[in-house]
Amino acid sequence: VPNCTRVLVLLGLLLGCGGDSRPNVLLITLDTTRADRLGAYGYVPAKTPHLDRLAAEGVRVKDATSVAPITLPSHATIFTGLLPPTHGVRDNGSYALGQDAVTLAERLRDSGWRTQAFVSALVLHRRYQLDQGFAGYDDDLWSADEPKLFMIRDRPAPETAGRAVAWLEEWAAGSVRGSAVAASGEREPFFLWVHFFDPHQPWSAPAEVRALAPTGYDAEITMADRGVGLLLDALDRLGVARDTLVVVTADHGESLGEHGEKTHAIFVYDATIRVPLLWRFPGRLPRGLAVDGPASTVDLLPTILGLLGLPGGETTEGRDLGPLLAGEPTPALLGRPRYAESLLAEVGFGMAPLFSVREGPWKLIQAPRPELYDLGRDPGELENRFAGEPRRARRLQRTLDDLLASSAARALAPQANALDRETLEMLQALGYLAPAEQRLGVSGMDPKDGLPLYNQLEEARHLAQQGKWNEAERLLRELLAVLPQNVSARNILALALLRQGRGEEARDEYLRSLADDPKQARVAALLGAQALGEGDYGEARRWLRKAIEITPGFVEAIANLGILAALEGDVVAAEQWYQQALELDPGYPRGWRRLGDLHFERGDWSAALAAYERVLERTPEDFGALLQAGASARRLGQPEQAMERLRQAADLRPDSWLPPYNQACLLAVSGQTEAALAALEMALAREGPGRSLLATDPDLEALRRLPTFAELLGRHGIPWP
Ligand SMILES: [Zn+2]
Repeated sequence: VPNCTRVLVLLGLLLGCGGDSRPNVLLITLDTTRADRLGAYGYVPAKTPHLDRLAAEGVRVKDATSVAPITLPSHATIFTGLLPPTHGVRDNGSYALGQDAVTLAERLRDSGWRTQAFVSALVLHRRYQLDQGFAGYDDDLWSADEPKLFMIRDRPAPETAGRAVAWLEEWAAGSVRGSAVAASGEREPFFLWVHFFDPHQPWSAPAEVRALAPTGYDAEITMADRGVGLLLDALDRLGVARDTLVVVTADHGESLGEHGEKTHAIFVYDATIRVPLLWRFPGRLPRGLAVDGPASTVDLLPTILGLLGLPGGETTEGRDLGPLLAGEPTPALLGRPRYAESLLAEVGFGMAPLFSVREGPWKLIQAPRPELYDLGRDPGELENRFAGEPRRARRLQRTLDDLLASSAARALAPQANALDRETLEMLQALGYLAPAEQRLGVSGMDPKDGLPLYNQLEEARHLAQQGKWNEAERLLRELLAVLPQNVSARNILALALLRQGRGEEARDEYLRSLADDPKQARVAALLGAQALGEGDYGEARRWLRKAIEITPGFVEAIANLGILAALEGDVVAAEQWYQQALELDPGYPRGWRRLGDLHFERGDWSAALAAYERVLERTPEDFGALLQAGASARRLGQPEQAMERLRQAADLRPDSWLPPYNQACLLAVSGQTEAALAALEMALAREGPGRSLLATDPDLEALRRLPTFAELLGRHGIPWP
């Protein structure tokens, strides 16, 4: 069947086989999900009925691995079919996928698929450029709840799935914006990617789900499974399940304490590298088949293209798993090497990076103290066979070297994310940049040996979350004495200093951190924000621009450049910056707030009100936005709407005199003196306006003539007249 589709597509007939239209593709990535925690993979207490159903209706790959235990690098591989050293995304946060990458979404879009993505965590925000090729990319994660310190902004599976289902319904109704019907009269097939983040820490599933599952982690997997269920139900309901290829995998697993690692991201053991991999393609792939593999997430792109009969997969670093999934013998796959890496130990903690390769049952981990495991006999990777198997280790090391060399030879142009010479020289002159040889010297700590330091860092984070800045600082300084290039520790130290009011010391630590790892857009943005707060506009501009040079879609830095422009009196530039931030991130509440203030200051009340309403959609408890919305509505001649916003503000902050005072003004100018006096009474009870404001505010003109006004002020100890 795939061959037939291929020929027809190449001929441009787009008729599909046997009258079938081109199939849809639904790709689901589960964050932080171990294969061995799903029912389909033999975990008896699992509550994963929807994933299990998918496995029963399709093909389950038993041995599938990821290329990195970190979200963004792993997803970049899924979408490019390239290994991390090739696509260049080696960690979360600091890296963005280069525009010269050709993603699965770009390939499908160019072949006539309608592309759409829904992600559930900030680490996959469009600023990291995985949105390439997606006509729509829903990463709208702003909500009323600020995430806890050091936690990732995210949304739960049912919410993400609900949005994806709504999109599917629109697609089915033919009403997706810009959706074109193919020349043949067929509907455009869809490529939908949905990412669920629930199994990632913190575990916070609702109690009713928690009660079903053996652990908090399993409960979160059940949450993700429910998201999967909502999507599968929608396919059934819309009658497109038969025409849809469904692929489910995870970006990585979770250590759950194995090898001393609590979560994921440092080590490359199977606890975090093994992932589930499920395929359902009714009529085209077998039902209820389980195949051994070996498979890697780098194979997803070539396999999906292969199943759709589209070219392009052969130019990637993955393999087309089509024959394997069809249950055919695949001897060529058996001896293939599979790669995985973690650079977090190096870029985040100043230790050595980890690279691994596996071939058949053997797995080599390249580290200062190298490891070799016979996974067939020792799946838990507990017995290091490196010393006893020198020839095997050498052979695998050569395989790894070859992989890295071929990857390097075809690497995409790196993002322009290192610091420019001027900044580097400045850091060096300030004494922040360690000489190259010294940097090399400290990078040699084996992450296995650095584990106590990592736990110490976790402890410091925990103290910081509780606001115990002093204790956190002490712990971090101890840690940095051992491992001075641990930028994660240094960044938390800087925060601890900042929160203790020691801005100058904080700045020094941020500078040192940036010198150690110049790709940290966030740190550059923080330096910019700090300078902005201190009124050093030149310095602020330099760092904020640096931040968006490193990560072009860094909306917080862009919005701060707007504030800077406004402070310098350049409202045109300010508006442009805010607009740019909102184009990049249409839900960004602080961007709307700033834009609203700008319109307000200009007297454009209706634009101001519209912007404040956008803020309140996301963050209905934004006190300032409520007051400003009230003020804008009043000036627009909408007193009822103004009163309503002020009432909400008054309920929200019973300690503030501002809302009732504004209500009093509004009522006074509309001639409702009794109500105005009552509101003013409330404002005065809240330690409200001083005598000078009461004496001069033109809104109160009518009130001031009344004897009851004098009485009211008298009751609150304010002499009048
Ligand atoms: Zn992840």
